[in-house]
Amino acid sequence: MAELGNPQNTIEVLQKYRFNFQKKFGQNFLIDTHVLDKIIDASGVTEDDFVLEIGPGIGTMTQYLCERAREVVAVEIDKNLIPILSDTLKNYSNVTVINEDILKLDICKLAEEKNQGKPIKVVANLPYYITTPIIMGLFESHVPIDSITIMVQKEVAERMQEKPGSKEYGALSLAVQYYAKPEIVANVPPNCFMPRPNVGSAVIRLTRHEKPPVEVEDEKLMFRIIRASFNQRRKTLANGLNNSPEIHLPKEVIQESIVSLGVPENIRGEALSLEQFAELSNEIGQRMK
Ligand code: SAM
Repeated sequence: MAELGNPQNTIEVLQKYRFNFQKKFGQNFLIDTHVLDKIIDASGVTEDDFVLEIGPGIGTMTQYLCERAREVVAVEIDKNLIPILSDTLKNYSNVTVINEDILKLDICKLAEEKNQGKPIKVVANLPYYITTPIIMGLFESHVPIDSITIMVQKEVAERMQEKPGSKEYGALSLAVQYYAKPEIVANVPPNCFMPRPNVGSAVIRLTRHEKPPVEVEDEKLMFRIIRASFNQRRKTLANGLNNSPEIHLPKEVIQESIVSLGVPENIRGEALSLEQFAELSNEIGQRMK
C-alpha cells in the first residue's frame, strides 16, 4: 500500500531528511490522496504498462504508480531528493530513479530499452516552469507515447483545449491538438499541495492520436508558421509571416497562399483552425519548392 500522500507523512519525511524546498525546481508536493487516486485512474495505467514519471519529488505519486504499473522510471533533477526516494520506494522492485534533467534525457532510448519501443504512458505532477518545453519535447521527439496524464497550471490546461476565436487559443493549443486529444480530468486547488502554489492547477489527460487529424506535408514548416502567426498576435497573419525570419517568401506569395484558403487577406492567425494551418502550410510549402 502507498504510504505517502497525506500531510502528516509528507512532513515526517521532509523533517527526517531536513529537506529544503527549492523554488527554482517548481517543488509543490501533493498531499491529497483523492487527487492522487484521480490522476492514477485517469492515466489508465495497468500492470502491462511502462510508466515514465517526471519529477517524483519524495515519491508520493511514484508509490501509487508502482502499485499499478509493470515498471516505473522516475526522473528527478534535485539530487537532494535521491536519498529520500531510495527510502520511500525501498519496498518496490519495479522502479528506477534517474537523477537527471528531463529535458536532457533521451526518452526515445529509454522507451526502446525498457519497453521495446512500444508506447509508454507518462504521468506527472509537472514543475510548472517548464510545462511547455516538456510536453513539446515529448511530442516532437516522436517518443512512442500512449498518453500523458499531467498536473499543470489551470490556465495552461485550459489553453491546451481552446479552439479558434478564444483569447487563450495559441501555438500550444494547436500543437497539443495536432498530436493528442486533451481532456481536463480535475481541477485541483492550492491546498492540495505543500507548499501551496500561487495558482490553481488542473489534471489533464492527453491521449495520443494514432494518426494526426490533418494531413501536413511538412510538420516542421507548419509549426514554424504557427509560431510566426502567434508571435505577433496583434498583427495580421500576412504581416506575422512576412516579418518572420523563418519564412523566406516574397510578400505577394504569402498573400496568395492565404487567399487560396478562401479567407480574408487581413485575417489574424488566431482565427485559423488546425485544418486551415495545415492547408496554409501545404500551400506555402508548394510555393517554397
Ligand atoms: N511528483 C511529486 C508530487 O506530486 O508530490 C513532486 C511534484 S513537483 C510539482 C515537481 C518535481 O519535479 C519536483 O520534485 C522537482 O524537483 C522536479 N523537477 C523540476 N525540474 C525538473 C527537471 N528539469 N527534470 C526532472 N525533474 C524536475
